[in-house]
Amino acid sequence: MELRIENLNKTYGNGVHAINNCNLTIDQGMYGLLGPNGAGKSSLMRTIATLQEADSGSITLGDIDVLNDKDAVRRILGYLPQEFGVYPKVSAENMLDHVAGLKGINNRKERKELVGALLNRVNLYDKRKSNLGTFSGGMKQRFGIAQALLGNPKLIIVDEPTAGLDPTERNRFHNLLSEIGENTIVILSTHIVEDVTNLCNDMAIICLGQVITTGHPAELVKEVQGSVWSKSINKADLQAHMEAFRVISTRLKAGKTEIHVFSENQPDSSFAAVNADLEDVYFTRIGERMELELV
Ligand code: ADP
Repeated sequence: MELRIENLNKTYGNGVHAINNCNLTIDQGMYGLLGPNGAGKSSLMRTIATLQEADSGSITLGDIDVLNDKDAVRRILGYLPQEFGVYPKVSAENMLDHVAGLKGINNRKERKELVGALLNRVNLYDKRKSNLGTFSGGMKQRFGIAQALLGNPKLIIVDEPTAGLDPTERNRFHNLLSEIGENTIVILSTHIVEDVTNLCNDMAIICLGQVITTGHPAELVKEVQGSVWSKSINKADLQAHMEAFRVISTRLKAGKTEIHVFSENQPDSSFAAVNADLEDVYFTRIGERMELELV
């Protein structure tokens, strides 16, 4: 099954063109949708999840017309939204049982087995009797995945799932997602490059509502390999470097500022070649898009 988005547009009442002529083809496996806050990721996710209307364009999932046959999509969709509220006084087990009932799993025994198996899968079986209000951020996210997995979905959408998780919780969540990606389409929307690096075999970068690049992460890295240079500078010299070079990112390293610069040739001998990674791709492509906006 393949998800195909063609010429999709959405402008909100306030004039923001949140999805700007979006075209994407997404196959089975983990797909990363990477972009800064405000890029339009959630707008796109909500539209695919049939929670909001588009102005124009089409989305098909296999032979389902997503925008016009919402019920058919909902039957095979698992969605973990960015804002995931839980009922604090309900146990994990009871909540999942309730949602399973809503999804049409009417046989009590079947439901109990399914709920147990899912809680086990997301490593929450020992906590099944605990109220959701006592769960940490990572546990809530894993519970959300269990809920999204009910009914054997063919398409799973997770919107910014690791924001706010500590490194251990994030790692556990990554492992869980990568298992699921084997025979389903999983779209992971995130502003965290590392999530995509760790998990996705295919990706798009979006910015200001537009898809600015798509491809396999390793192929995209190849495109900038050899054109990224680093230099360690004092913070006071940053402005001058920003004016003289195409600085794509800055980070603090041992009290100094390390800058990455995009340039086909070594800018000068004070710069060292960088073994580029997806973060360099991301900042290069986002920077190009932002520059276009300023012209
Ligand atoms: P992301 O998920 O990448 O952070 P969003 O889809 O939430 O991006 O937002 C894209 C743009 O649309 C932003 O400029 C945001 O302010 C705007 N936006 C999102 N939802 C609404 C809404 N319901 N009404 C008006 N503007 C919105």
